[in-house]
Amino acid sequence: MSTLVCFHAHPDDEAIATGGTMARAAAEGHRVVLVVATDGAYGEVPDDLAEGETLSDRRREETVGSAKALGIHRVEYLGYRDSGMTGWDGNDDPASFWQAEIDEAASRLAAVVRDERADVLTIYDWHGGYGHPDHIQVHRVGKRAAELVAADLPDLRVLESTMNRDHFRRGVDAARELGEDLGPDGLGGDDGFDPDGPMDDGNPMGTPEAEITLGVDVTDYVFRKRAALTAHASQVSDQSFFLNMPDEMFAFAFGREWFIEHDREPSSDGPRPGWLFD
Ligand SMILES: [Zn+2]
Repeated sequence: MSTLVCFHAHPDDEAIATGGTMARAAAEGHRVVLVVATDGAYGEVPDDLAEGETLSDRRREETVGSAKALGIHRVEYLGYRDSGMTGWDGNDDPASFWQAEIDEAASRLAAVVRDERADVLTIYDWHGGYGHPDHIQVHRVGKRAAELVAADLPDLRVLESTMNRDHFRRGVDAARELGEDLGPDGLGGDDGFDPDGPMDDGNPMGTPEAEITLGVDVTDYVFRKRAALTAHASQVSDQSFFLNMPDEMFAFAFGREWFIEHDREPSSDGPRPGWLFD
């Protein structure tokens, strides 16, 4: 049995980015731990908050449901405030994750990784997939945490979760051919979603396939991923595009999760089909 720790920016990121991997690891008997950096306070505010209930309270509760769907054994929060998208006021909030001192945040994550004696830690790629400040910070803090635990856990492997830009483009092209409406109500942009267009920080989304080393097949777990997304009910209009996808399209888009392993060279044949613990 191995232990997997997945580090994410906001409640609900776990479902879409590494949900299949976590569900598969749990189903195979591994221990799965989720660490969430922020409270997700910039999410959508539902109409039915109870007296005294905050959005963060609600999102924690929803994360319990998501964790249940994915088979996650432990959920920890680092306790930072959501920083919002690039340029938002929240970027300057001293309590935000974006303003957090890297070493301080990394030591909080490192405490969990050490306590769990983790075998694998997942973080995000250098621009957090789409440039959201909190996602960029997951990369920076995650890398630093790995350095902090290196002496205690010399075999810890750090994998960067990313989106496969080429795979996404193929999916978008196939969906357009089938006449699926991909925008403006789909993934944004007047002409529909363009995987090569600028994201939050001006870079295109994810990583070119040629730089990705590992593609994890989670086809058997996409139903759990869908259930985890559904558990984040307050954020559902953000996710309705994904949740409304026909099963086949959802399986194409989310049946594989992509990682960059810096201890392996990318292959000219594309990402290696494999598993975290291979
Ligand atoms: Zn996020």
